[in-house]
Amino acid sequence: MNPSRQQSKLQEAKAEVLSLLKILSDKVDLERKLGVNYLQLDPIIKNNISQEEEMISQQPVPESVCDNLDTYNEDTKVELSKSEKIEALSKLEEQVKKCTKCELCNNRTNVVFGTGDQDADLMFVGEAPGYYEDEQGEPFVGKAGQLLTKIIESIGLKRSDVYIANILKCRPPDNRNPNANEIVMCSPHLIRQIEIIRPKIICALGTFAAQTLLDTKETIGKLRGKFFEYQSTKFLATYHPAYLLRNPGDKKKVWTDIKKVRDFLQE
Ligand code: SF4
Repeated sequence: MNPSRQQSKLQEAKAEVLSLLKILSDKVDLERKLGVNYLQLDPIIKNNISQEEEMISQQPVPESVCDNLDTYNEDTKVELSKSEKIEALSKLEEQVKKCTKCELCNNRTNVVFGTGDQDADLMFVGEAPGYYEDEQGEPFVGKAGQLLTKIIESIGLKRSDVYIANILKCRPPDNRNPNANEIVMCSPHLIRQIEIIRPKIICALGTFAAQTLLDTKETIGKLRGKFFEYQSTKFLATYHPAYLLRNPGDKKKVWTDIKKVRDFLQE
């Protein structure tokens, strides 16, 4: 090959590697915003990375990206059987029960990990445990929880048919709103739960769950009732049951939203 052709081939290869690194860097940035503190590669990116380029991806990444790598090192792209999901969630729960990544560990009675069918098609995500949830170690057990059970039953399902979890696993004092640090520290637990369960649809309950998972500051009033995608999973947000207890006039809107979830599951 003559030297100028060799030079042009080299430049083409360099441009391709730079473009792949840009895709990877954008993805890491996006996931960091969502609170993912470990590196995961989309199959599309993975397939496009040649052996030589894969060596580049294996080079040390910034420390913040590696923070949880030792904790969550399973291949998140492999579809698990139900028994594998049960085992993976149980292992994860043991880890989360010991979590001290934010100051909420200091006053918790229980870590509220999540409950329900580990192989559920529908997963509800709320904000954070309240008083009763902290006492019992289970999400949505107070009055808001009873209302959520009614909402689930209104579409012909039982509570045990779905999986329920929160963004935060420990109760904020006096049920105050979660702060940004707590959300960033705790979100990887939820993201890992979603990766294991792989529901067909996620229904976010309330502002914090919707804004955190969609990485937006848009109000729940604007987000609710519309389909979005969260990491290739259908996503719909609606009002939190606790909000409905204070604003019963908006119950109709939630019935409308939840019927969309039902219709999607029946498609
Ligand atoms: S709220 Fe989440 S990050 Fe904070 S201590 Fe509890 S489990 Fe850990």
